[in-house]
Amino acid sequence: MTDNRHRTLALLVAAGTGSRAGGDIPKQFRTVGGKAVIVHAADALAAHQGIDAIHLVIGAGQEAQVRALLGDRAIAGVTQGADSRRGSVRAGLEAIAAAGGADRVLIHDAARPFLPCAVVNRLLAALDGAQGAIPVLPVADTLVRGADGAMGQGVARDGLFRVQTPQAFCFDTILAAHRGWDEGREATDDAQILKGWGHDVILVAGDEGLEKLTYHQDFARAEARLASARTVRVGMGYDVHRLAPDEELWLGGVLVPHDRGLAGHSDADVALHAIVDALLGALAEGDIGSHFPPSDAQWRGASSDRFLAYAGDRVAARGGTIDHVDLTIICEAPKIGPHRDAMRTRIAEILSLPIDRVSVKATTTERLGFAGRREGIAAQAVATLSLPALS
Ligand code: MG
Repeated sequence: MTDNRHRTLALLVAAGTGSRAGGDIPKQFRTVGGKAVIVHAADALAAHQGIDAIHLVIGAGQEAQVRALLGDRAIAGVTQGADSRRGSVRAGLEAIAAAGGADRVLIHDAARPFLPCAVVNRLLAALDGAQGAIPVLPVADTLVRGADGAMGQGVARDGLFRVQTPQAFCFDTILAAHRGWDEGREATDDAQILKGWGHDVILVAGDEGLEKLTYHQDFARAEARLASARTVRVGMGYDVHRLAPDEELWLGGVLVPHDRGLAGHSDADVALHAIVDALLGALAEGDIGSHFPPSDAQWRGASSDRFLAYAGDRVAARGGTIDHVDLTIICEAPKIGPHRDAMRTRIAEILSLPIDRVSVKATTTERLGFAGRREGIAAQAVATLSLPALS
């Protein structure tokens, strides 16, 4: 069975049926930013290089719903949970053990959608010297006891922490701790179970964004956070095509009168190709050749504006906007200056941008190299995008 053994597994616990957040559906199935909370959590775990696979624990009768939400995302296993959180985790651990076990496991609540990569890094690093590690935050507010609406004794907050998930463990140890736990007692998290089994649990820094979504206002806050959190991405593109007789010269989406034109599989518009690669680069979605293979006959002689429109659509599909495109055309001839504004207008039109977000520049290479010898034209582009920070 060691063939199936994953080094580091995430156990995503989504068995709750609680609806404290209001509404009839369990909170892990509600959406934030158009995506179910459990899917945010699964995507964050899957995106971490140190996590090899995800195992899910879900409630009775939830499998079809969960599968539909997760689509074609890779899930190593799905286990039905129990009445208590502890029972659900135990069921998941036993299922993983039956499938070959793991070296390390990160046990995570599906109701915590925003998991920073850095928290996982800290947990995994701590596991190198311990059997368990948990993310915690210091308590900032004053704490008091109270009863019947009246304040009682204050509670010293020194040394108090709020505990988050994922909680990271050496798999065999947390499994043994769960098996050895007194069934008559409850535990609100797995670190208590490991501690009860006689092992130290290391505290690492958690993250404010990792808060559990429980109440209606938590969802409203998460929506606002997603709407406002943007990240800037910069991509670069570079392309070269050969100049040949009996070809039209398409450059920057404009037909430029010249004695020769660019040769290539499509219309060989190097300028638009460089911008397409800059946009795809900013998205980390490959390059123009991976989306429009030159081996595919349908792109023969194709007008490159459709490639650029496609790249613009990919940005939109990721919830992004294009802040700026800066293009440099490198050639000895023709002169670009007279066509600059037509190119800017055309590129802005294809990408549905205001023209002041499109820059077209040109340079020669002082007659040096292939561009200087008028054998070909090169183009470089830089694209600056704004993307949702947690897309
Ligand atoms: Mg090209």
